[in-house]
Amino acid sequence: MKEENLQNPVDMFYTGEFEKQEQPYPGVQADMKPVPDCGEKSYVGHGRLEGRKALITGGDSGIGRAVAIAFAREGADIVVNYLESEQEDADSLKALLEAEGSTVHLIPGSLQDEQFCVRLVGQAVEKLGGLDLMALVAGRQHSVENIEDLTTEQFRETFEINVFSLFWLTKEALKHLPEGSSIVTTTSIQDYKPSPNLLDYASTKSAITAFTRALAKQVAKKGIRVNSVAPGPIWTPLQISGGQPQSKIPEFGHNTPMGRAGQPVELAGVYVFLASNESSYVTAEVYGVTGGNHTE
Ligand code: NAD
Ligand code: MG
Repeated sequence: MKEENLQNPVDMFYTGEFEKQEQPYPGVQADMKPVPDCGEKSYVGHGRLEGRKALITGGDSGIGRAVAIAFAREGADIVVNYLESEQEDADSLKALLEAEGSTVHLIPGSLQDEQFCVRLVGQAVEKLGGLDLMALVAGRQHSVENIEDLTTEQFRETFEINVFSLFWLTKEALKHLPEGSSIVTTTSIQDYKPSPNLLDYASTKSAITAFTRALAKQVAKKGIRVNSVAPGPIWTPLQISGGQPQSKIPEFGHNTPMGRAGQPVELAGVYVFLASNESSYVTAEVYGVTGGNHTE
């Protein structure tokens, strides 16, 4: 074994306190301190997704960006969706991956809009010459302490982005997905251990888990697998753009058995596994990446 293969996970990534920092939703990762590690310098592909055609939502930053880097370096051609205000993060992702010879198409637009979701799938199919992989990572999290202050507008938006878009994108994609395709959704530790300030968000994450499991059973015989990833506290723009109160930022992730927040790159391998043929008998499953706060 090479020496660098033996690393202590406790201090493999940033372990210190985070500086308080606030950005308007959805935030730009390039302006974060420290900038989240999405595997730009470290993720090495091994051809596990060679020839695959992937749509990744929320792919500009955080976990989605780590997935985009990993999928591209594993050989997939990718379409990345994000919001227009995140163009800077999306542009830097495209520049990084295209310099390595990958094919990256950027399609900005809001998943709150059913018609846009339908168009996004259609355009992805057109640009990639088909579609056989969806990593649905986009999500909205906005902390509110008391239900009395949780507006209908907010929880409707959270449900539209986190849950409704999965129905709209999947309905359209199933017209195109061939046997062997894979869908990976993104739930959360919040499904299993909901925080009091994330009432609407945690509810959407439980809905995503149920959606994933029911859909997986519905399409199993078609040869399509559907799984979900449940992250614990991961250092991303979601957290500093309203996802947490600023008072919780310095110690973010420190209450896990591992004692630190996770970095997006630490999720990449799980999405690749669930996307590839290596997980051929895995469907309707949720895979936790939580630093030790397990999901059951
Ligand atoms: P992130 O901010 O980097 O990614 C979220 C992305 O969602 C944004 O980049 C944005 O492009 C997209 N998005 C938001 N609203 C949208 C809209 N209306 N239309 C289209 N796209 C929209 O943060 P992240 O933490 O990497 O989040 C990725 C996923 O991981 C989310 O589903 C989140 O709920 C989930 N998650 C995150 C954590 C964590 O601690 N960071 C923990 C558990 C689950
Ligand atoms: Mg972003």
